[in-house]
Amino acid sequence: LSDKLDKAMHVLKGHGSITEVNVADTLKEIRRALVDADVNFKIAKEFTKKAKDKAIGQGVLTSLKPGQLLTKIVRDELAELMGGEVTGVNLSGNPSVILMSGLQGSGKTTFSGKLANFLKTKKSKKPLLVACDIYRPAAIDQLHVVGESIGVEVYSNRDEKDPVKISQAAIAHAKQNGFNVVIIDTAGRLAVDEQMMNEIAQVHAAVQPQETLFVVDSMTGQDAVNTAKAFNDRLNFDGVVLTKLDGDTRGGAALSIKSVVDKPIKFIGTGEKMEAIDVFYPSRMADRILGMGDVVSLVERAQEQFDEEQARKLNKKIAKNQFGFDDFLSQIQQIKKMGNIKDLMGMIPGAGKMLKNVDIDDDAFKGIEAIIHSMTPEERTKPQIINGSRKKRIAKGSGSTVKDVNQLLKQFDQMSKMMKMMQGGKGKAMMNALGK
Ligand code: GDP
Ligand code: MG
Repeated sequence: LSDKLDKAMHVLKGHGSITEVNVADTLKEIRRALVDADVNFKIAKEFTKKAKDKAIGQGVLTSLKPGQLLTKIVRDELAELMGGEVTGVNLSGNPSVILMSGLQGSGKTTFSGKLANFLKTKKSKKPLLVACDIYRPAAIDQLHVVGESIGVEVYSNRDEKDPVKISQAAIAHAKQNGFNVVIIDTAGRLAVDEQMMNEIAQVHAAVQPQETLFVVDSMTGQDAVNTAKAFNDRLNFDGVVLTKLDGDTRGGAALSIKSVVDKPIKFIGTGEKMEAIDVFYPSRMADRILGMGDVVSLVERAQEQFDEEQARKLNKKIAKNQFGFDDFLSQIQQIKKMGNIKDLMGMIPGAGKMLKNVDIDDDAFKGIEAIIHSMTPEERTKPQIINGSRKKRIAKGSGSTVKDVNQLLKQFDQMSKMMKMMQGGKGKAMMNALGK
């Protein structure tokens, strides 16, 4: 019993505040994670420095290591940088015209279908797909297959070689037939070239879309940034679609693109199927880029559940030597609110190994709670009055042994002393953090 408590308490021990020294390793790790995730090195460096400056001196709450808190700070910064609010597409036109741009193979045709399906099923729209890839007959066939699979009409004209004329005719067709969204799928090349840029710029100028989307393969990494810049210079597009995030790519392109062109990422593609579309959530992408999602959710849970007011009161009580079993009980409840102890520990990197030898289960505190419940209010506030006969009574009432009661009393005594000690020196910062 005391062993379990020891271990749980160890996990919950804080580590003061964030300093240059105690987060140096984490900072290095984060920078490496960013670069591994294809974030441009310069951007990664600038970014981690900014996050560190912001974090230095912050008090570390409850069970966290400074590195963990820094990770959380970095994650929040990342999410903010990648976009804050989730923005959809502009559907104000009648019909609303959405133009797809991007390199060949980036996923334009697939995404055109996904978006049509999304608008049809989720927004009750009546979309029309338009085939403007005039160079490859197979591309027109591909869009027809996509349209058929989702029950959306596809406009195409195999005899017309001018994408401007095709799109204009398609919009006229949409107006006549009650389509309220027109999605124009265009031709891309394997690399940025003048002809492709001129062609899409002409379509763009002619149809004046409500929404121009730049579609990019998230696996292209650093190249994605240059491509995004080239398209944005010509089209001043409205948003980015990041495809193929179902692979093992970490999605650093999202951060780099956002830093360079400063346009919101609106959707992500997560597979070849028509349903594999999702709106872009900056915080999820931040987790993915960092590859540290579990640490972040641990931090969040700890912060969420911690009752700061209670902590402040507790702090006072400890100072006045008034910490009693009732306080202890509410501490345990706090810990339990944070979730299953084993889950919680499992989230801490490296703790998995440790857990193999430790038997911490949900009931880790059950025995302790039972013993405390069997104490009278007076015994709880003044544990020193608990003598032999009281111990026997408590043991009997809680279904434990006198030995268990003794152990808990000893443990409690040690803990009170430790808490008192922590109020000075190194523990002070933590207590301040708790009290804030
Ligand atoms: P386009 O040349 O820009 O029109 O690109 P396509 O839509 O033809 O897509 C090129 C390839 O990527 C096709 O094989 C698609 O099935 C595939 N693809 C597109 N989007 C995704 C995605 O989100 N995930 C995966 N795994 N494959 C995708
Ligand atoms: Mg295509």
